[in-house]
Amino acid sequence: MKYNAILLFGAPGSGKGTQGTILGRVPGFFHCACGDVFRSLDLRTDLGKAFLDYSSRGELVPDDLTIKLWKVRIHSSEEAHQFKPDLDFLVLDGIPRNLPQARLMDSLIDPKLVFHFSCPDRVQLFSRLKKRALKDNRMDDANEEVIRRRLETYENETKPVLEHYGPEKVRLIDALQTPAKVLHSMLSEVIKLESPREGI
Ligand code: ADP
Repeated sequence: MKYNAILLFGAPGSGKGTQGTILGRVPGFFHCACGDVFRSLDLRTDLGKAFLDYSSRGELVPDDLTIKLWKVRIHSSEEAHQFKPDLDFLVLDGIPRNLPQARLMDSLIDPKLVFHFSCPDRVQLFSRLKKRALKDNRMDDANEEVIRRRLETYENETKPVLEHYGPEKVRLIDALQTPAKVLHSMLSEVIKLESPREGI
């Protein structure tokens, strides 16, 4: 059985993590942010070291490692009964992040909706990331060169993945709206989905 999924796409700083976290608080939605999965690793392990190495340059961690780690995390969430695949939508944030990852995940997920948090204003993204660096103590948000590299990685590797899922699944969200309006835009699409929890 494939996981019913909702995919979140957006540049670093577009607010997809904030919105994904909120959606994940609603029963029937399980939020998995790939960056958080990496950040929770013990940095003394080989995988932890690899993450530190790639992310501090603004680059993606190699696909095989990423997908393997993601699968382990999802399976352990299932075993802990935090994620119930027969009842919940899996809200994926930050994965897949390039075409090879999308292809590797095709046999595992059934995307019902793909949100594209659009923020063409790079100055705005820069200033949001700078604030986050202070608030969340994220070193990859503190360095301008690394931020530039991450925005480039998003444009060159991640944004093209939207085409893989086709225009009928993709919903454009204006990420420059207030957080409440972004949430409203997202929920107004989500409530149209048929939920296995209906009637329970
Ligand atoms: P951002 O705000 O840049 O979207 P994330 O928290 O999603 O930040 O990711 C932080 C870093 O973790 C990325 O720059 C990358 O190095 C690594 N990472 C996260 N998700 C993936 C993925 N799906 N594939 C490869 N690397 C990833």
